[in-house]
Amino acid sequence: MRLKLRNIFLVYFVVSIFGLLYAVLQLGQPCNCSQILREGRGRHNPVSPKEPGNQGGVDQLPIIYVVTPTYERPHQRAELTRLSQTLLLVPALHWILVEDSLKRSPLVADLLAQSGLHYTHLNVQTPPPMKLKEGEPNWLKPRGVEQRNEALRWLRVNQSPMDRGVVYFADDDNTYSVNIFKEMRHTQKVSVWPVGLVGGLRYEGPLVDKGRVVGFHTAWKTHRPFPIDMAGFAVSLTLLLMHPEARFDPNAERGFLESSLLGQLVSVEDLEPRADNCTKIWVWHTRTEKPKLKQEEALEKLGRGSDPNVLV
Ligand code: UDP
Ligand code: MN
Repeated sequence: MRLKLRNIFLVYFVVSIFGLLYAVLQLGQPCNCSQILREGRGRHNPVSPKEPGNQGGVDQLPIIYVVTPTYERPHQRAELTRLSQTLLLVPALHWILVEDSLKRSPLVADLLAQSGLHYTHLNVQTPPPMKLKEGEPNWLKPRGVEQRNEALRWLRVNQSPMDRGVVYFADDDNTYSVNIFKEMRHTQKVSVWPVGLVGGLRYEGPLVDKGRVVGFHTAWKTHRPFPIDMAGFAVSLTLLLMHPEARFDPNAERGFLESSLLGQLVSVEDLEPRADNCTKIWVWHTRTEKPKLKQEEALEKLGRGSDPNVLV
Protein backbone atom coordinates (compact mmCIF):
# COMPACT_ATOMS: atom_id res chain seq x y z
CA MET A 1 0.00 0.00 0.00
CA ARG A 2 2.87 2.36 1.03
CA LEU A 3 4.68 1.58 -2.20
CA LYS A 4 1.58 2.27 -4.33
CA LEU A 5 1.03 5.69 -2.79
CA ARG A 6 4.69 6.54 -3.37
CA ASN A 7 4.37 5.55 -7.04
CA ILE A 8 1.31 7.72 -7.48
CA PHE A 9 3.14 10.70 -6.02
CA LEU A 10 6.14 9.97 -8.22
CA VAL A 11 4.01 9.90 -11.38
CA TYR A 12 2.20 13.08 -10.28
CA PHE A 13 5.53 14.77 -9.62
CA VAL A 14 7.01 13.81 -13.01
CA VAL A 15 3.88 14.90 -14.92
CA SER A 16 3.83 18.26 -13.07
CA ILE A 17 7.49 18.89 -13.84
CA PHE A 18 6.89 18.18 -17.56
CA GLY A 19 3.82 20.45 -17.55
CA LEU A 20 5.75 23.24 -15.90
CA LEU A 21 8.66 22.79 -18.32
CA TYR A 22 6.28 22.98 -21.31
CA ALA A 23 4.64 26.13 -19.99
CA VAL A 24 8.05 27.79 -19.46
CA LEU A 25 9.13 26.84 -23.01
CA GLN A 26 5.95 28.40 -24.45
CA LEU A 27 6.64 31.76 -22.80
CA GLY A 28 7.66 34.37 -25.36
CA GLN A 29 6.69 32.22 -28.35
CA PRO A 30 4.86 34.17 -31.10
CA CYS A 31 1.13 33.39 -31.33
CA ASN A 32 -0.66 32.68 -34.59
CA CYS A 33 -2.16 36.18 -34.75
CA SER A 34 -3.16 35.97 -38.40
CA GLN A 35 -6.28 34.07 -37.35
CA ILE A 36 -7.23 36.79 -34.88
CA LEU A 37 -6.65 39.52 -37.46
CA ARG A 38 -8.69 37.65 -40.04
CA GLU A 39 -11.58 37.34 -37.62
CA GLY A 40 -11.33 41.05 -36.82
CA ARG A 41 -11.60 42.01 -40.46
CA GLY A 42 -14.36 39.53 -41.14
CA ARG A 43 -16.78 41.28 -38.80
CA HIS A 44 -18.63 43.60 -41.07
CA ASN A 45 -22.06 45.01 -41.83
CA PRO A 46 -23.75 43.76 -44.98
CA VAL A 47 -23.32 46.14 -47.88
CA SER A 48 -25.18 46.20 -51.17
CA PRO A 49 -24.03 43.29 -53.33
CA LYS A 50 -25.22 45.21 -56.40
CA GLU A 51 -22.44 47.77 -56.16
CA PRO A 52 -19.19 46.99 -57.98
CA GLY A 53 -16.22 46.27 -55.75
CA ASN A 54 -18.28 45.38 -52.67
CA GLN A 55 -17.52 42.61 -50.23
CA GLY A 56 -19.94 42.03 -47.35
CA GLY A 57 -19.86 40.37 -43.95
CA VAL A 58 -21.44 40.64 -40.51
CA ASP A 59 -20.23 42.74 -37.61
CA GLN A 60 -21.04 43.76 -34.08
CA LEU A 61 -18.87 46.90 -34.08
CA PRO A 62 -19.95 50.12 -35.84
CA ILE A 63 -18.23 50.10 -39.24
CA ILE A 64 -15.63 52.74 -39.94
CA TYR A 65 -16.12 54.01 -43.51
CA VAL A 66 -12.82 55.51 -44.60
CA VAL A 67 -13.27 57.85 -47.56
CA THR A 68 -10.12 58.50 -49.59
CA PRO A 69 -9.91 60.66 -52.71
CA THR A 70 -6.98 59.69 -54.92
CA TYR A 71 -5.51 60.71 -58.27
CA GLU A 72 -2.96 59.39 -60.71
CA ARG A 73 0.67 60.37 -60.18
CA PRO A 74 4.02 58.51 -60.07
CA HIS A 75 3.77 57.77 -56.34
CA GLN A 76 0.04 56.93 -56.18
CA ARG A 77 0.62 53.20 -55.73
CA ALA A 78 3.17 53.85 -52.97
CA GLU A 79 0.72 56.11 -51.10
CA LEU A 80 -2.17 53.68 -51.44
CA THR A 81 -0.04 50.70 -50.41
CA ARG A 82 1.04 52.46 -47.23
CA LEU A 83 -2.50 53.56 -46.38
CA SER A 84 -4.12 50.21 -47.22
CA GLN A 85 -1.65 48.37 -44.99
CA THR A 86 -2.44 50.68 -42.09
CA LEU A 87 -6.17 50.08 -42.67
CA LEU A 88 -5.56 46.31 -42.57
CA LEU A 89 -4.80 46.68 -38.87
CA VAL A 90 -8.28 48.07 -38.18
CA PRO A 91 -11.22 45.69 -37.66
CA ALA A 92 -14.68 46.35 -39.12
CA LEU A 93 -13.53 48.86 -41.68
CA HIS A 94 -14.82 49.62 -45.17
CA TRP A 95 -12.57 51.63 -47.48
CA ILE A 96 -14.30 53.87 -50.01
CA LEU A 97 -11.62 54.82 -52.48
CA VAL A 98 -12.70 57.45 -54.98
CA GLU A 99 -10.52 58.12 -57.99
CA ASP A 100 -10.35 61.61 -59.47
CA SER A 101 -10.72 60.28 -63.00
CA LEU A 102 -13.15 59.56 -65.82
CA LYS A 103 -12.74 55.79 -65.34
CA ARG A 104 -11.71 53.48 -62.55
CA SER A 105 -8.10 52.54 -63.26
CA PRO A 106 -6.76 48.96 -63.34
CA LEU A 107 -3.88 50.02 -61.05
CA VAL A 108 -6.27 51.01 -58.27
CA ALA A 109 -8.67 48.12 -58.97
CA ASP A 110 -5.81 45.58 -58.63
CA LEU A 111 -4.45 47.21 -55.51
CA LEU A 112 -7.89 47.05 -53.90
CA ALA A 113 -8.52 43.46 -55.00
CA GLN A 114 -5.25 42.38 -53.40
CA SER A 115 -5.55 44.58 -50.32
CA GLY A 116 -7.50 42.13 -48.14
CA LEU A 117 -9.80 45.01 -47.17
CA HIS A 118 -13.55 45.46 -47.53
CA TYR A 119 -13.86 48.22 -50.07
CA THR A 120 -15.86 50.14 -52.63
CA HIS A 121 -14.11 51.54 -55.67
CA LEU A 122 -15.67 54.71 -57.10
CA ASN A 123 -14.60 57.45 -59.47
CA VAL A 124 -15.61 60.97 -60.38
CA GLN A 125 -13.56 63.52 -62.20
CA THR A 126 -12.99 66.98 -60.75
CA PRO A 127 -14.40 69.42 -63.37
CA PRO A 128 -11.37 70.75 -65.34
CA PRO A 129 -11.91 74.42 -64.29
CA MET A 130 -11.72 73.32 -60.63
CA LYS A 131 -8.61 71.19 -61.14
CA LEU A 132 -5.16 72.37 -60.12
CA LYS A 133 -2.92 73.07 -63.14
CA GLU A 134 0.70 71.93 -63.35
CA GLY A 135 2.86 74.40 -61.43
CA GLU A 136 -0.04 76.07 -59.56
CA PRO A 137 0.38 76.15 -55.77
CA ASN A 138 -1.79 73.48 -54.17
CA TRP A 139 -3.56 75.94 -51.85
CA LEU A 140 -5.16 77.67 -54.87
CA LYS A 141 -8.01 75.17 -55.26
CA PRO A 142 -9.58 72.61 -52.96
CA ARG A 143 -8.68 69.02 -53.76
CA GLY A 144 -10.71 65.82 -53.43
CA VAL A 145 -14.03 67.65 -52.95
CA GLU A 146 -16.11 65.97 -55.67
CA GLN A 147 -14.65 62.61 -54.62
CA ARG A 148 -15.64 62.98 -50.97
CA ASN A 149 -19.13 64.09 -52.05
CA GLU A 150 -19.39 61.05 -54.32
CA ALA A 151 -18.65 58.81 -51.31
CA LEU A 152 -21.39 60.60 -49.35
CA ARG A 153 -23.78 59.94 -52.20
CA TRP A 154 -22.79 56.24 -52.22
CA LEU A 155 -23.32 55.96 -48.47
CA ARG A 156 -26.78 57.52 -48.74
CA VAL A 157 -27.80 55.11 -51.49
CA ASN A 158 -26.33 51.99 -49.93
CA GLN A 159 -26.66 52.40 -46.17
CA SER A 160 -29.66 52.94 -43.92
CA PRO A 161 -29.89 54.99 -40.69
CA MET A 162 -30.18 51.66 -38.85
CA ASP A 163 -26.62 50.74 -39.87
CA ARG A 164 -24.22 51.75 -37.13
CA GLY A 165 -21.19 53.42 -38.60
CA VAL A 166 -18.81 56.33 -38.67
CA VAL A 167 -17.34 58.16 -41.65
CA TYR A 168 -13.74 59.38 -41.76
CA PHE A 169 -12.18 61.39 -44.59
CA ALA A 170 -8.62 60.08 -44.88
CA ASP A 171 -6.45 61.58 -47.60
CA ASP A 172 -4.01 59.20 -49.24
CA ASP A 173 -0.83 61.00 -48.17
CA ASN A 174 -1.36 61.47 -44.42
CA THR A 175 0.05 59.27 -41.67
CA TYR A 176 -2.40 57.46 -39.41
CA SER A 177 -1.86 55.64 -36.12
CA VAL A 178 -4.21 52.73 -35.51
CA ASN A 179 -5.16 54.56 -32.30
CA ILE A 180 -7.12 57.19 -34.17
CA PHE A 181 -9.50 54.55 -35.54
CA LYS A 182 -10.14 53.21 -32.02
CA GLU A 183 -10.96 56.74 -30.91
CA MET A 184 -13.50 57.45 -33.64
CA ARG A 185 -15.32 54.10 -33.55
CA HIS A 186 -18.11 55.12 -31.15
CA THR A 187 -18.97 58.58 -32.46
CA GLN A 188 -22.44 59.87 -31.55
CA LYS A 189 -22.45 62.93 -33.85
CA VAL A 190 -18.99 64.31 -34.67
CA SER A 191 -15.79 63.32 -32.86
CA VAL A 192 -12.67 65.51 -33.04
CA TRP A 193 -8.95 65.38 -32.20
CA PRO A 194 -5.79 67.29 -33.06
CA VAL A 195 -3.82 66.80 -36.28
CA GLY A 196 -0.04 67.05 -36.37
CA LEU A 197 1.96 69.22 -38.80
CA VAL A 198 -0.88 71.31 -40.17
CA GLY A 199 -1.93 74.97 -40.30
CA GLY A 200 1.70 76.07 -40.06
CA LEU A 201 1.88 74.68 -36.51
CA ARG A 202 3.31 71.57 -34.86
CA TYR A 203 -0.32 70.64 -34.43
CA GLU A 204 -3.75 72.20 -34.72
CA GLY A 205 -6.66 71.00 -32.61
CA PRO A 206 -9.62 71.58 -30.32
CA LEU A 207 -9.19 73.03 -26.82
CA VAL A 208 -11.11 71.06 -24.21
CA ASP A 209 -12.45 72.03 -20.82
CA LYS A 210 -14.42 69.62 -18.63
CA GLY A 211 -14.86 67.24 -21.53
CA ARG A 212 -16.27 69.91 -23.91
CA VAL A 213 -14.69 71.69 -26.87
CA VAL A 214 -14.37 75.34 -25.84
CA GLY A 215 -12.09 76.64 -28.60
CA PHE A 216 -9.34 75.74 -31.02
CA HIS A 217 -5.55 75.90 -31.08
CA THR A 218 -4.97 77.41 -34.51
CA ALA A 219 -3.06 80.33 -35.99
CA TRP A 220 -4.50 80.46 -39.51
CA LYS A 221 -7.91 81.95 -40.40
CA THR A 222 -8.93 81.69 -36.78
CA HIS A 223 -12.43 82.93 -37.66
CA ARG A 224 -13.22 79.63 -39.40
CA PRO A 225 -16.37 78.14 -37.74
CA PHE A 226 -14.62 74.75 -37.48
CA PRO A 227 -10.86 75.29 -37.75
CA ILE A 228 -10.31 71.54 -38.03
CA ASP A 229 -8.34 69.71 -40.72
CA MET A 230 -10.08 67.03 -42.79
CA ALA A 231 -8.12 64.38 -40.84
CA GLY A 232 -9.27 65.77 -37.48
CA PHE A 233 -12.89 64.63 -37.31
CA ALA A 234 -15.25 61.74 -37.96
CA VAL A 235 -19.01 61.88 -38.49
CA SER A 236 -21.64 59.38 -37.43
CA LEU A 237 -23.22 57.65 -40.41
CA THR A 238 -26.68 58.15 -38.88
CA LEU A 239 -26.11 61.91 -38.63
CA LEU A 240 -25.04 62.06 -42.27
CA LEU A 241 -28.10 60.11 -43.35
CA MET A 242 -30.36 62.37 -41.26
CA HIS A 243 -29.03 65.34 -43.27
CA PRO A 244 -29.33 64.14 -46.87
CA GLU A 245 -28.27 67.50 -48.32
CA ALA A 246 -25.10 67.86 -46.25
CA ARG A 247 -21.99 67.86 -48.42
CA PHE A 248 -18.68 69.63 -48.99
CA ASP A 249 -19.02 72.93 -50.86
CA PRO A 250 -16.65 72.91 -53.88
CA ASN A 251 -16.79 76.73 -53.87
CA ALA A 252 -15.97 77.13 -50.19
CA GLU A 253 -13.29 79.72 -49.43
CA ARG A 254 -9.86 78.26 -48.87
CA GLY A 255 -9.71 76.68 -45.39
CA PHE A 256 -13.50 76.56 -45.08
CA LEU A 257 -14.10 73.17 -46.72
CA GLU A 258 -14.37 71.23 -43.46
CA SER A 259 -16.63 73.95 -42.02
CA SER A 260 -18.86 73.74 -45.11
CA LEU A 261 -19.84 70.18 -44.18
CA LEU A 262 -19.68 70.36 -40.38
CA GLY A 263 -21.75 73.56 -40.26
CA GLN A 264 -24.66 71.62 -41.76
CA LEU A 265 -24.42 68.87 -39.14
CA VAL A 266 -23.42 70.20 -35.72
CA SER A 267 -22.44 73.19 -33.61
CA VAL A 268 -19.12 73.42 -31.75
CA GLU A 269 -20.84 72.47 -28.45
CA ASP A 270 -21.84 69.12 -29.96
CA LEU A 271 -18.26 68.08 -30.79
CA GLU A 272 -17.00 65.00 -28.96
CA PRO A 273 -13.33 65.38 -27.99
CA ARG A 274 -11.18 62.26 -28.37
CA ALA A 275 -7.49 61.36 -28.05
CA ASP A 276 -7.22 62.05 -24.31
CA ASN A 277 -9.17 65.31 -24.40
CA CYS A 278 -7.37 66.27 -27.62
CA THR A 279 -3.90 66.01 -26.10
CA LYS A 280 -2.58 63.14 -28.24
CA ILE A 281 -1.46 63.32 -31.86
CA TRP A 282 -2.45 60.16 -33.69
CA VAL A 283 -2.70 61.54 -37.22
CA TRP A 284 -0.26 63.72 -39.16
CA HIS A 285 -0.89 65.88 -42.22
CA THR A 286 2.22 64.62 -43.98
CA ARG A 287 2.99 65.34 -47.64
CA THR A 288 5.05 63.29 -50.00
CA GLU A 289 7.75 64.97 -52.03
CA LYS A 290 7.09 64.84 -55.75
CA PRO A 291 9.47 62.22 -57.18
CA LYS A 292 12.16 63.54 -59.51
CA LEU A 293 12.05 61.64 -62.77
CA LYS A 294 14.40 63.70 -64.95
CA GLN A 295 16.61 60.72 -65.80
CA GLU A 296 13.54 58.68 -66.73
CA GLU A 297 12.50 61.37 -69.21
CA ALA A 298 16.05 61.52 -70.62
CA LEU A 299 16.18 57.75 -71.11
CA GLU A 300 12.68 57.73 -72.63
CA LYS A 301 13.89 60.18 -75.30
CA LEU A 302 16.62 57.66 -76.15
CA GLY A 303 14.01 54.89 -76.28
CA ARG A 304 15.56 53.22 -73.22
CA GLY A 305 13.05 54.19 -70.50
CA SER A 306 12.20 51.86 -67.61
CA ASP A 307 10.09 48.82 -68.57
CA PRO A 308 6.46 50.13 -68.73
CA ASN A 309 5.23 46.66 -67.75
CA VAL A 310 6.80 47.02 -64.33
CA LEU A 311 4.13 48.49 -62.03
CA VAL A 312 5.62 51.17 -59.76
N1 UDP B 1 -6.63 64.66 -54.75
C1 UDP B 1 -7.49 64.38 -55.80
N2 UDP B 1 -7.35 65.08 -56.97
C2 UDP B 1 -6.39 66.05 -57.15
C3 UDP B 1 -5.54 66.33 -56.07
C4 UDP B 1 -5.69 65.63 -54.88
O1 UDP B 1 -8.34 63.50 -55.68
O2 UDP B 1 -6.32 66.64 -58.24
C5 UDP B 1 -6.76 63.90 -53.50
C6 UDP B 1 -5.42 63.43 -52.90
O3 UDP B 1 -5.08 62.15 -53.40
C7 UDP B 1 -5.71 63.42 -51.41
C8 UDP B 1 -6.75 64.54 -51.25
O4 UDP B 1 -7.34 64.75 -52.54
O5 UDP B 1 -6.25 62.21 -50.97
C9 UDP B 1 -6.14 65.84 -50.76
O6 UDP B 1 -5.14 66.27 -51.67
P1 UDP B 1 -3.69 66.74 -51.19
O7 UDP B 1 -3.12 65.72 -50.29
O8 UDP B 1 -2.89 67.13 -52.39
O9 UDP B 1 -4.10 68.05 -50.39
P2 UDP B 1 -3.38 68.79 -49.18
O10 UDP B 1 -2.58 67.81 -48.41
O11 UDP B 1 -2.52 69.80 -49.85
O12 UDP B 1 -4.51 69.35 -48.42
MN1 MN C 1 -2.30 65.86 -48.37
